[in-house]
Amino acid sequence: MSTITVNDRTYTVPETPVVVITVDGGDPRYFHDALNREIMPRLAGMLTSGGSFALGASEMPSLTNPNNISIVTGVSPAIHGIPGNYCRLPDGTLELLNDPRFLRAPSIHSAFEAAGIPTLMVTTKDKLRLLLGNGGVPSVSVERAAGASIPVYGIDDVEALVGSPAPGVYDPLASHYAMQIGLAAIAHTPELKLIYVSLTDRVQHASAPGDELADLFFTEFDALLGQYLDAGCRVAVTADHGMNSKHDANGEAKVHYLEDVLQEAGIPIEEIVLPITDPYTKHHGALGSFAWIYLAPEHRDRAREVLGALTGIEEIWDRESSATIYEHPIDRIGDLAVTAAADTALGRTASAHDLTQLHGALRSHGGRYEQLVPLILSHPVNGPLTAKYQAGILRSRDIHDLVLNHA
Ligand SMILES: [Zn+2]
Repeated sequence: MSTITVNDRTYTVPETPVVVITVDGGDPRYFHDALNREIMPRLAGMLTSGGSFALGASEMPSLTNPNNISIVTGVSPAIHGIPGNYCRLPDGTLELLNDPRFLRAPSIHSAFEAAGIPTLMVTTKDKLRLLLGNGGVPSVSVERAAGASIPVYGIDDVEALVGSPAPGVYDPLASHYAMQIGLAAIAHTPELKLIYVSLTDRVQHASAPGDELADLFFTEFDALLGQYLDAGCRVAVTADHGMNSKHDANGEAKVHYLEDVLQEAGIPIEEIVLPITDPYTKHHGALGSFAWIYLAPEHRDRAREVLGALTGIEEIWDRESSATIYEHPIDRIGDLAVTAAADTALGRTASAHDLTQLHGALRSHGGRYEQLVPLILSHPVNGPLTAKYQAGILRSRDIHDLVLNHA
């Protein structure tokens, strides 16, 4: 049995294809609700015939990029270098963290590739493609599927491989197209051993568990999960983060605009950085439940006092503490890190965020209340991680260990 060691963890090379699916915004409540109402028969069947379902925790902030990278590297943001979708670098520049030059650790997939073991990365959002493909991993996105090829596997046209044109990235079924690409690739290239499929949270940002659109999403997901099982794959399903409503009963977003609050209190700041910021503003308007504040040392105590007095502000840590607590790279985070309650989002100024572009009332993530994620496997969990798995204290970054080493 051959193994690969990367980032101080050792993974067993599987004999049949292993597929890890990250449901973007795949809050465990969607799965529990769908299982309770019996609208995911393939998942239910998988669980009664030896599969496993436990809860685990995502990285903080509970955002897409840090968590996708933790899942594919098996390590924390302190080691892989991606603490947000967006951050401020030590020279003061603001960067979307979509480029491999920001990565400080290789992925499990790149280590497999280096050992000659065939892998594939499929992402719905193109923003993740270069990060996931780093280190020579064949990668493709739904967003840029038109005209895309995967030459190393002799696939000249991804849309022809799937047999239908790719939907737009805001289409509710865009995620399912990513799953179809994975299925078609396995049928075309049976020697694939490790496949990662990352979905988009467009539906989860707009629809709560039980809503019509969410039901469509999860019933289609279930049918495709069944196709992976029928193809003989070992499957793991997790999420990069959960999702919560962040609006009042009238649909008005509940937001603390931190720059406005601090300015009103006479506290000068350098900058508010919102790590949820990404190219998909229709999802969240750059409003989530986590923020970094950059400000001079003499103003920090007063800022903590003012913000700590607001309803819905929960944690305020200085840079050193937050680097320890959230396992963050200390050079890419703010002087203060702030988290908000489940129903509250954090913004810069009221005028900096355009909420008219949202698909509906604000549902978002980034804080503690979206840290809970499912860790679902198509097989029983055995071995040293079993007790922690059952206790719900593993991390999404453990999913490759679970699926490759504990089958
Ligand atoms: Zn996400």
